[in-house]
Amino acid sequence: MTFHFSHTFAEQLEGFYRSCEPEKCSSPELLQFNSSLARELALDHEDFIGEFGVSVLSGNELPKNANPIAMVYAGHQFGMFTPQLGDGRALLIGEVVDAIGSRRDVQLKGSGRTPFSRGGDGKAALGPVLREYLVSEAMHALGIATTRALAAVRTEDWVRREEPKPRAVLTRVSASHIRVGTFEYFAAKGEWSQIKRLADYAITRHFPEVISADDRYLEFFKSVLRKQAKLIADWMSVGFVHGVMNTDNMTISGETIDYGPCAFLDRYTPAIVFSSIDDYGRYAYENQSKIGQWNLAQLGKALIPLYEEEEEQVIQRFVDALDTFNVWYEEYWLSNMRTKLGLARAELGDLELVEQLLQLMQQGQGDFTLVFRHLSAALLGDDSKFKAQFNDPSLPSAWLTLWLKRVGREGFVSTQCAMNMNNVNPAYIPRNHKVEEALDAAVSRNDLEPFRVMLKLLTEPYRDHVGMDEFAIPAALGASPYVTFCGT
Ligand code: AMP
Ligand code: MG
Repeated sequence: MTFHFSHTFAEQLEGFYRSCEPEKCSSPELLQFNSSLARELALDHEDFIGEFGVSVLSGNELPKNANPIAMVYAGHQFGMFTPQLGDGRALLIGEVVDAIGSRRDVQLKGSGRTPFSRGGDGKAALGPVLREYLVSEAMHALGIATTRALAAVRTEDWVRREEPKPRAVLTRVSASHIRVGTFEYFAAKGEWSQIKRLADYAITRHFPEVISADDRYLEFFKSVLRKQAKLIADWMSVGFVHGVMNTDNMTISGETIDYGPCAFLDRYTPAIVFSSIDDYGRYAYENQSKIGQWNLAQLGKALIPLYEEEEEQVIQRFVDALDTFNVWYEEYWLSNMRTKLGLARAELGDLELVEQLLQLMQQGQGDFTLVFRHLSAALLGDDSKFKAQFNDPSLPSAWLTLWLKRVGREGFVSTQCAMNMNNVNPAYIPRNHKVEEALDAAVSRNDLEPFRVMLKLLTEPYRDHVGMDEFAIPAALGASPYVTFCGT
């Protein structure tokens, strides 16, 4: 087995985790293995398809040099602080340095109870494991920073949920698993020396460019702000609703993490919420940047006591930095939207043009993905599919004239511009109802084919796949609202 593990987190951050062995499972079967990610990690695919490989990916055996640990963290869940959460069903088994020299965590998710499991069983059910695999890989293909899925293993054990479900294990890979909640854990205990060690570690691992800055913790804070502003702007540009933006689900590296109750917009409804427990719409599509900023304020609070100078002055510097989150976010968001509209240059009035289109989409119940996807054809003289996305096809006519004028000023050849647009406006996103169909086939009929078909499609989302139209369209208008669940 060729994991060349190292363990910088475990070696440098004693007190931030507990050692813990994975729980064994029966008859593990490798359902999906991510060969392209394996190549990135300089792992050998052949090693993983044999019995020992599957044993490792299920937690039944540990590769040489593994050092399994459960990390501790706290978190604000729906605004309420819980002083201790931690990896209750996951174990970091080691770090690898990938082909471009970046350090990545390899984690087993669903590997059994840990010291942080509280009342939970530490296990994962097959449906949610495949869901995380599918959606995280789709996000990656859409160019959005995310944790990755290396493998999904099914077992012959059952986990107790509302009804018994097959147990599965996901191997997750991430830039690191340090969360805003990791800082909050030590801040709540007033352990500032631990916060300093964690911040120094995170800086070295994720933001080495600020190591020698005069005010390194403020610069670190600003770097995290900027990464998160970009991430959330990227979510918005594909209609992604994370669904559970608790501070323990926000990474310092700027990767999307935790695919429990996430979902994608179809018809453009900014206030939409999918999660069954989000009664007040805290994590609605349109609230994501505000919540991102709120979460980052919690990170700021954990860093401020690292300073010895007058607290008020430090607070002011952090508050000023926090204010720049909106500036970054709006800049990234508008830049994404411009690209979606085929605009490479900035012009005054672009924001208005984007906002007008979004208003029309809301009014005309336009599908977020397809409105943008079909816009490029309008540039080549066929606006029928674009207009057909609105319940009244004449609704966007005036806007279309404005846009054609605006995009004309870019000076591109139309075919080139249309191609550029198709390379940023996906034809396929994980359509909620299709995801459910694929997971249902896997869980109730042990039929992995729909999952594999969808995975293949979603890893090439910008190309039209012949005969795959059913994956491109939203659920039928009268379909019952899509609802997602936590506690998976
Ligand atoms: P999540 O909703 O996945 O972000 O998880 C929130 C917290 O609950 C984390 O500390 C998880 O480790 C823990 N948790 C979630 N599911 C389980 C489970 N089945 N067993 C133990 N802990 C869990
Ligand atoms: Mg979580």
